[in-house]
Amino acid sequence: MSTPTTSAMATRVEPDFSLKDFLSSFLLAEFFKGMLLTGKYAFRSKITLEYPEEKTPLSPRFRGLHALRRYENGEERCIACKLCEAVCPAMAITIESEERADGSRRTTRYDIDLNKCIFCGFCEESCPVDSIVETHILEYHGESRGDLYFTKEMLLAVGDRYEPQIAAARAADAKYR
Ligand code: SF4
Ligand code: SF4
Repeated sequence: MSTPTTSAMATRVEPDFSLKDFLSSFLLAEFFKGMLLTGKYAFRSKITLEYPEEKTPLSPRFRGLHALRRYENGEERCIACKLCEAVCPAMAITIESEERADGSRRTTRYDIDLNKCIFCGFCEESCPVDSIVETHILEYHGESRGDLYFTKEMLLAVGDRYEPQIAAARAADAKYR
């Protein structure tokens, strides 16, 4: 059976005693530092909000739920150019279109799969007629996968309902575009 060598015994490290650490611990220095920091911020204005009763302001460029817009006469803005579909990096947009009797082109299908969407805003940026936009709506959810598959009718309904807010946000951002 082997025994410890002299050199192994010689390298054994004794625990260091630090008077500074001892006093710091004994006098609860860390505790009082923490209390000092708490006291420093206790009477300052709060930076947290009681969501959802309180909300932070949103930029006009906020990218929330999508909407399809109409012109004032009720006509759909979308001309089925498919730029948004082409630019979408998540391939979340599916468009089908046909020509109307008057020669204009309109979509027969415009779907966005919000499960895929990464809210990059490229669709909105690419649209030549301000048709597809991202609204300030952020409080929505789906309880199953299909709930977040938005069809043309659903997107138009969002646009119809929130048009005043959408138009105001576009106007506020117009000078920066
Ligand atoms: S926001 Fe981006 S990812 Fe979402 S549909 Fe538009 S282009 Fe696609
Ligand atoms: S929403 Fe805009 S970019 Fe997309 S197909 Fe319609 S007109 Fe083109």
